[in-house]
Amino acid sequence: MNLEQHQRGERPGLKNVCDECGSLSIKVVDPATAPATTVIQCGRCNAVRGTLADLHDLARRGTDLFEF
Ligand SMILES: [Zn+2]
Repeated sequence: MNLEQHQRGERPGLKNVCDECGSLSIKVVDPATAPATTVIQCGRCNAVRGTLADLHDLARRGTDLFEF
């Protein structure tokens, strides 16, 4: 068992938490119209959190990332 390593999961990609201010919020873009290369910014401080492609990727993996 190496649960801690598993949970940290330091993959490249969208940051759930902002490195700069610790906020969870992101600026909302419309995934239906925005290109995958659209930059996702922090909702509080505008730091770059990833791209829309990262967001899609995260959503696809959502079932194994979030266990309730
Ligand atoms: Zn921020």
